[in-house]
Amino acid sequence: MTVLDRFRLDGDVAVVTGGNRGIGRAIAQALAEAGADVAIGNRDAESGRRAADEIAADTGADVRAYEVDVTDEAQVEALVEATVADLGGLDVLVNNAGITIHAPAEEMTVEQFQRVLDVNVTGAFRCAKHAGRVMIENPGDGRGGAGSVVTLSSMSARVANYPQHQVAYNASKGAVDAFTRQLASEWAEHDVRVNAVAPGYVRTDPVDEALAEDPELEALWTDEMLLSEMARPEDVAPLVVYLASEASWYVTGASLLIDGGYTVR
Ligand code: NDP
Repeated sequence: MTVLDRFRLDGDVAVVTGGNRGIGRAIAQALAEAGADVAIGNRDAESGRRAADEIAADTGADVRAYEVDVTDEAQVEALVEATVADLGGLDVLVNNAGITIHAPAEEMTVEQFQRVLDVNVTGAFRCAKHAGRVMIENPGDGRGGAGSVVTLSSMSARVANYPQHQVAYNASKGAVDAFTRQLASEWAEHDVRVNAVAPGYVRTDPVDEALAEDPELEALWTDEMLLSEMARPEDVAPLVVYLASEASWYVTGASLLIDGGYTVR
């Protein structure tokens, strides 16, 4: 077995929430390229189906799309059940679905704050709870073989963002890191690993929309990066393949930064 073989996911089934676009789309593609069959779960049925069809045609993997809102536990449970029924199991969960609401804290409503936490944190919990029930029943091998949970955190778990106002988002990502550590501790005995990836700025719709409103943000942000440019979704996806695969069997409870060196200084 070569080192690259250890990154293969042949025979595995992965769920990627928000796999229809942005970072989640790139993750779904990368997991399929590595050999996994993939279930994409998001709210917009049309873009989910389109992404699934394109990834399946490109990779030969079995890729399905399911309509799901991660703020609804019954829908999350149904996604897990459908994945197991249609694809034959569940080995990898990528909690990628996430939202941001930009508002000064003194003007943000409690409902807005709670909405961000409901998607980014409680959504990840709902998915992990139901996917984890399947993983815990999977045959383990003492090397994390029963399952891998990967949640999208952010460098915003560790540093303040400037100049935008996003107190709920940063609170949610800090919670993702704590959730990840605790769940890793609780599920180690079930041979399930739990990790997070923490990107810096990645060129997806929310970032492009912010730049369209204020083009000067790009220079403000990239000046802080050692690598001088924002990431693309495809730059984040390989780290998720690593965390999903046996190559990372000794990694659990971690939140791995992938931020172009933004947080170094
Ligand atoms: P996008 O806004 O491009 O995509 C968000 C995804 O989440 C969409 O697929 C959306 O699909 C899905 N989604 C949103 N709400 C729900 C919901 N209630 N139920 C199910 N799916 C939902 O975001 P990005 O690709 O930029 O971000 C993906 C993840 O990466 C997020 O967790 C984000 O916080 C994190 N991240 C992003 C960074 C960046 O700079 N872009 C930096 C650091 C972290 P639909 O609307 O169809 O439901």
